[in-house]
Amino acid sequence: MIVLEDKCFSPHVAMAQRDHIRLDWRMPYRTVERVRPVAWTCICRATVYELCQGGGQAFIRRTVQLDGAPEARETPRWLVNIPKDQG
Ligand SMILES: [Zn+2]
Repeated sequence: MIVLEDKCFSPHVAMAQRDHIRLDWRMPYRTVERVRPVAWTCICRATVYELCQGGGQAFIRRTVQLDGAPEARETPRWLVNIPKDQG
């Protein structure tokens, strides 16, 4: 569930739903494929989520914006059907 608020251009993560599933967050997986975010949550929050796609796969990246270096984690990848011109 996603909520849009005034003054923000991207959605915020809402409270967990009753039927939610817990995601498995892992250290970022280095890949040679081109990966690009296709959707993301608002950067006004400390934690930003991006839906990333590339090489016929998709995953969610979570970045916690700390004072020092941002801390990134990613979900396991799943296969997606992407039109050839967008893959
Ligand atoms: Zn915001």
